[in-house]
Amino acid sequence: MTKLTDIATYLGKENWDMTFITNPTTVNYLTGFSMDPHERILGLMIFPDCEPLLFTPELEVEKAKAHVNFDVIGYADNENPWAKIKSHLAGHQIKTIAVEYDHLILSKSDGLKSVFDGISFNNLTPLINRMRLIKSDDEIQKMLVAGDYADRCFDIGFQFAGSEPGLTEMDVVAKIEFEMKRQGISEMSFDTMVLTGDRAANPHGVPEAVTIQQNKLLLFDLGVMSNGYASDASRTISIGQPSDVDRKIYEITREAQQAAFDFVKPGVTAFEVDKVARDVITKAGYGDYFTHRTGHGIGMDVHEFPSIGGSEDITIEKGMCFSIEPGIYIPNQVGVRIEDCLYVTETGAKSFTQTSKDLLIF
Ligand code: MN
Ligand code: MN
Repeated sequence: MTKLTDIATYLGKENWDMTFITNPTTVNYLTGFSMDPHERILGLMIFPDCEPLLFTPELEVEKAKAHVNFDVIGYADNENPWAKIKSHLAGHQIKTIAVEYDHLILSKSDGLKSVFDGISFNNLTPLINRMRLIKSDDEIQKMLVAGDYADRCFDIGFQFAGSEPGLTEMDVVAKIEFEMKRQGISEMSFDTMVLTGDRAANPHGVPEAVTIQQNKLLLFDLGVMSNGYASDASRTISIGQPSDVDRKIYEITREAQQAAFDFVKPGVTAFEVDKVARDVITKAGYGDYFTHRTGHGIGMDVHEFPSIGGSEDITIEKGMCFSIEPGIYIPNQVGVRIEDCLYVTETGAKSFTQTSKDLLIF
């Protein structure tokens, strides 16, 4: 309830009349009510001076009521949702609505405009990002559990990939996800990535039914959703004996990852963290092959605010959670990425994942 009160106070300060929050992750973050509306309408309305209202498809009303202690309004598939919202807000003067600019789609924005004459929108996303930026102890506990599952995925994937020749990337993906389902994980945080040899030189490569090459590196990038929180980690192992070049690329990446990780503490900036990782790779002569930012925030979404080495700088604070994931990608040759997500403590950082960063050979 405190989070809702914080938003209500903010609305009052900004002179905004209400929110219409459509991102299910934000609704879950604020209320504990988790659902996927698909194309239907979910709207959390918070007001500066009265109780919030939750608008959901009729199918979800009972579940929603178990999570919130304010009114839940449902709408059936044969009702006009916007007219229903309007009738419930008959006593309110609505001129400005705070919405998430990174989520509200045009058809829903038009729906709001169709029932509220002359309304204007304001962007609620920066406030939500700021609230979600610093994780509570409870959130960090959940992320540690999600991280532990990622470690289990690595263990399962490494053992299986090395168990016999002839397996494909997709065989290993299937094995990992099958075992996770059996352990009660219903959703990975993104499509599991297993890429062999030069196929890992594409940082966003897609696994296929392609045989895993012997004496080549194998890149894993994966994570799970657990209790509403994501994990995300990468490891690169060797199937058979790695070449000297592959080993060298691996060790440079590892040094960059460790240096950036060790550098993180409250007071340093995201740009500085990125520079620490990048400098290691640049000094070794591979700067042109580290083609993305060093990391991204993580929490209920696998990618969230802030960027570590994006276009905007930010000062690191205790409770922030983000990835450190430098990589070196040499086209047609090799790709290495090592990634852990961390949480910032008073004096440094701790990792959500514990899988060894030695070059493991299977
Ligand atoms: Mn990541
Ligand atoms: Mn990743």
